[in-house]
Amino acid sequence: MQTDRLHMAIQKSGRLADQSRDLLKSAGLKVQATKNQLTARATNFPLDLMLVRDDDIPTFVADGVCDLGIVGLNVLEEYRLGDDQDRCEIIARLGFGRCALKIAAPADEEFTLDSLQGARIATSYPRLTRKFLDEAQIACDVVTMQGAVELAPRLGIAAYVCDLVSTGQTLEANGLKPVHTVLESESVLVRTLKTIDPVKRLKADALVTRIDGVIATAESKYIVLNAPESALADITRILPGADAPTIMPLMGHQGHVAVQAVCQESVFWETLEELKDAGARDILVMPIEKMML
Ligand code: ATP
Ligand code: ZN
Repeated sequence: MQTDRLHMAIQKSGRLADQSRDLLKSAGLKVQATKNQLTARATNFPLDLMLVRDDDIPTFVADGVCDLGIVGLNVLEEYRLGDDQDRCEIIARLGFGRCALKIAAPADEEFTLDSLQGARIATSYPRLTRKFLDEAQIACDVVTMQGAVELAPRLGIAAYVCDLVSTGQTLEANGLKPVHTVLESESVLVRTLKTIDPVKRLKADALVTRIDGVIATAESKYIVLNAPESALADITRILPGADAPTIMPLMGHQGHVAVQAVCQESVFWETLEELKDAGARDILVMPIEKMML
């Protein structure tokens, strides 16, 4: 790997791998695999990717081996609790890989947090679990397992588990139910806090700006509508996440204006109905292809 190129760690294969690559693609990067399969190189940007296990990503970024990384907040926070210095920072939430670290109990049990007192709980996230228990002043043994945590109760390893849940189907299939959320998670973009060369720093900033643009675009829509001037106050209030819409007079329609706005939140049918009720007509909602904030 060349030292003047940016290094970013992403998951090699697994739940975050495809979406991490898709994000970079949407940021305009053309990525070419190399023979060793551990790295990939962008052909149109000074960026090399390190394709690794997600568990290694926080260490690589904290140590400065990689300038940037994409990893689940759950993995990052677990790592941070074991690191005495803060050596990486979250610079964006990426909106994919959503899941939650949850405590689960046998489906037929009447559970309260007190049930955990004196019990055993199995998890792959011992530090996050311990932190939660300590804060809740619960004395409970934490058993660390690398995988198949949901089998722990059936195997008699622990009565409870603290595991990642997205749909809850795995828990259900193992006779468990979620009872408490310890951490809401999604994938995040992290940057090393180690000093990096100023030229590389500029390149990193440029890449982060593009990624911010991609995230903003994914949620944003461009709205155009016509409305009587008297309805403007209501309409701007209804437009989701739009600041300072553009207002233009409509030729030949005195008292009527055209409104254009970038809405940085989802626009639902309900929103359009509300706009119409407020007096808006000819409402168009358009996707935004690129955006630089
Ligand atoms: P690796 O081989 O890289 O160590 P892994 O098996 O540890 O992979 P994956 O199962 O690919 O990890 O999950 C990666 C991340 O995806 C998780 O850390 C979490 O942030 C996110 N994720 C989203 N939904 C789920 C889910 N239902 N179960 C587990 N992880 C999920
Ligand atoms: Zn892993």
